[in-house]
Amino acid sequence: MSVSSTKVDKVLFVTPEITPLAKSGGLGDVAAGLPPALTALGLDMRLVMPLYGHIDRQVHDVTDSGLELVVPVAGEMKPCRVWQARVGGCPVYLLGNEQYFSRPGLYGDVYGDFGDNLERFVFLCRGAVELARALDWPAQVVHAHDWQCALLPAYLATRPFDLGPLDGAAGIITIHNLAFQGIYPRHDFHITGLPHYMDNMEGAEYWGNISLLKAGLMTAGAITTVSPTYAAEIQTPELGMGMEGVLRRRSQDLHGIINGVDYAQWSPENDPLLPATYSAGDLGGKALCRRALLEAFGLDAAAQRGPVMGFIGRLTHQKGLSLITEAGEALLDMGASLTLLGTGDAEVEAALSRLAARHPGRVGLKLTFSEPLAHLLQGGSDLMLMPSRFEPCGLNQMYALRYGTPPLVHATGGLKDTVTPFDQAGGAGTGFVFSEFNREAFLELAMEAGRVFAQPRSWRRLMLNGMAQDFSWTASARRYLELYQGTAKKR
Ligand code: ADP
Repeated sequence: MSVSSTKVDKVLFVTPEITPLAKSGGLGDVAAGLPPALTALGLDMRLVMPLYGHIDRQVHDVTDSGLELVVPVAGEMKPCRVWQARVGGCPVYLLGNEQYFSRPGLYGDVYGDFGDNLERFVFLCRGAVELARALDWPAQVVHAHDWQCALLPAYLATRPFDLGPLDGAAGIITIHNLAFQGIYPRHDFHITGLPHYMDNMEGAEYWGNISLLKAGLMTAGAITTVSPTYAAEIQTPELGMGMEGVLRRRSQDLHGIINGVDYAQWSPENDPLLPATYSAGDLGGKALCRRALLEAFGLDAAAQRGPVMGFIGRLTHQKGLSLITEAGEALLDMGASLTLLGTGDAEVEAALSRLAARHPGRVGLKLTFSEPLAHLLQGGSDLMLMPSRFEPCGLNQMYALRYGTPPLVHATGGLKDTVTPFDQAGGAGTGFVFSEFNREAFLELAMEAGRVFAQPRSWRRLMLNGMAQDFSWTASARRYLELYQGTAKKR
């Protein structure tokens, strides 16, 4: 299909997070990077997200649009004030409602998920429809992200209320992580606003509950996920998380499109969050970043013999941190140091804290969410650890490649699609990839990385191979555009 035949020119892109306004993980970065790349291909992209209470309106230039909506949620009319901002040149509409979004946090707090998340995200989905109506904006495609927005394609397909200018639009849903499915008690079905006939196995019903994601997967014109390998994996019982049957049924409409990297934000040549910049042509600044990283994490620079191994991410079961805690001492024995950044589950935080407490000066741990520290870790580490049990796409390994920080990854999902094993003899490859998820396989590969690290010429080759990779959004944005065109045509 020719990209220039722009049958689709208006896309409503609805997401629970957009970096830098709000971010809990990779979805925020994708929502910031993909729309500008689609704009460059000629589309009018308009983004919708909630106005969370923690968003600093001054810093991000979020202004009151003056537009007020009324959004029906569970039979009640909820007020909605529309705010405006721009991310990457694209207009973003932020839907404000005190009751749902004035608190800090995106989806929950220390006590767990917010009890009213179902209503909060019904409000977002229904609000997006009301916004299109108020703007009289007939998008041909509504691109919805994850369970929080999964009701949108279901509304478009089942038309339980007047869709206004969105009537006839194609709904596309992207799965960023199948582990999050928006599951609620079945007796709350009425809150969804879906028609009654969706309250069964062919609709939103999911093992006795309801799943917003399933409602979207059953009804969307097309489904995408964020890497080709993950698209295959989620159709298996091992990684389908109970949704594999639904996904197999829809496999003709399921597409794996790898995420891109926004190199304007993630390039060591011009990263304002690094203490020194560097490039493939001049790696000098990386040593300064390393020193600054060791200092920031309280590590003893004099004691460094081996590689500084970094980790950045949500501290959850998914991210495979048990391998780091189980192999931690052995990594230190080989001369490595650890710099770990993340927030997440209490037991994972506790296990890492114990490791750090046993090895002051060798294991640095920051239990916080910090964009500056994430950049410093990319710039200052020698090796980036990503032993995820599963990983839909993963962005950190792609950032690490560009920062000359070879990734060590488990062969799963997008990690498998973006990192190629280094062949020391031939000089090809960009990182280290282990297949079996266990301590021995992880450790053996970390040892191999240590051996390559000890040979500066080989290590430099490996770094440069990674830095030369190009995962910019352009190619993936073209695939989305083709999908938009193909899906809109089917209707
Ligand atoms: P996921 O989406 O599963 O969380 P990704 O690798 O796709 O994983 O994306 C993670 C993104 O979130 C990266 O941009 C990473 O830098 C960022 N991130 C995760 N945890 C933290 C943290 N504690 N501080 C700063 N950035 C973080």
